[in-house]
Amino acid sequence: MTTAFSVSNRAVNEAHHLPLAPLTVPERLLLGPGPSNADPTVLAAMNRQPIGHLDPAYLKLMDEVQELLRYAWQTDNQMTYPVPGTGSAAMEATLANVVEPGDRVLVGVKGYFGHRLVDMAGRYGAAVSTITRPWGEAFTLVELRAAMEQHRPQVLALVHAETSTGVRQPLEGIGDLCREFDCLLIVDTVTSLGGVPIYLDDWKVDLAYSCSQKGLSCPPGMSPFTMNERAIAKLDRRQTPVANWYLDASLLKKYWGSDRVYHHTAPVNMTYAIREALRLVAEEGLAARWQRHQQTAEKLWDGLQDLGLNCHVDRDLRLPTLTTVRVPDGIDAKAVSRTLLNDYNIEVGGGLGDLAGKVWRVGLMGYNSNPENVDTLLETMGKVLAELR
Ligand SMILES: *Cc1c(COP(=O)(O)O)cnc(C)c1O
Repeated sequence: MTTAFSVSNRAVNEAHHLPLAPLTVPERLLLGPGPSNADPTVLAAMNRQPIGHLDPAYLKLMDEVQELLRYAWQTDNQMTYPVPGTGSAAMEATLANVVEPGDRVLVGVKGYFGHRLVDMAGRYGAAVSTITRPWGEAFTLVELRAAMEQHRPQVLALVHAETSTGVRQPLEGIGDLCREFDCLLIVDTVTSLGGVPIYLDDWKVDLAYSCSQKGLSCPPGMSPFTMNERAIAKLDRRQTPVANWYLDASLLKKYWGSDRVYHHTAPVNMTYAIREALRLVAEEGLAARWQRHQQTAEKLWDGLQDLGLNCHVDRDLRLPTLTTVRVPDGIDAKAVSRTLLNDYNIEVGGGLGDLAGKVWRVGLMGYNSNPENVDTLLETMGKVLAELR
């Protein structure tokens, strides 16, 4: 007589609602602050078997990603690679590597993500000071110079594309200002990379970060990071080790550099995805891509005006990737976005912080930046507003 062999004589607690049905996901048009829809070509690239992260084929892929990323950012920085995690991980990578306990860090706060930089820099022991502007405005060079004179920071952190307000911070001249004060410049390009003109080296930006799921039209999960020689010099001079092991650039450069020393298992399929997303950026060409984003955004702005809706930001500071639209008096902002999602499968964002309940946030990023999506949104917005009025 044979008895069934059991690897455990303890009963398994069988949850009675399992197994679940196979995954289903609703089809949405993501016109909010992110994620935006992934390009189908990128999704197809992800849908392959992983290979080893030290496989020569993978190492070639890493080189390609680095080269493509340098193009997208217009930089020659050797240390340019994506880190695992979303944009906040890459944000943390910039601060963790160059901020030592006691360092003076000045943050430009003119929206939600400026506050996140303040929070993070404080956690790495920085003495943080801020310069502020109302949500919907940008800093002038004169204001920044005055703040540099007052605070004498070792690091200045600014958000290029403030997704909470829809403001583009002009960056010309700020890099020179930082060098004059022997200060490093960190720039958040999360909602600008792949959609808004960026010239990292010309602007003398020392460290920058971004994400995959906004202007690059890739799913979230791997986030671009870069640092130049000035930033590496500060990293090399540190008296204390980088407090974040996972994001320590002095360890990661041995993996992304020629040594290829194991550090962590790379998210292989996300590397396929970002490689393909960046290849599409290069195939279109940066100038053409920036132009497409600008034209699509202008079509939106004109159409909103025809609907009697106003944009929150002055036209010359508006981001082509993210538009904040003022909610008219007597309209429940949440009811509109709920109806758009539930009845029309369109996602737009609501206001954050100082702009909560006051604006909608409309994203037209990467793959989603096209006139058809603008027409769809305007037509649907018009219908929903008429119903609710
Ligand atoms: C989205 C965003 C982030 C954070 O990125 P996550 O991918 O959500 O972690 C940081 N800064 C800006 C300006 C953003 O828009």
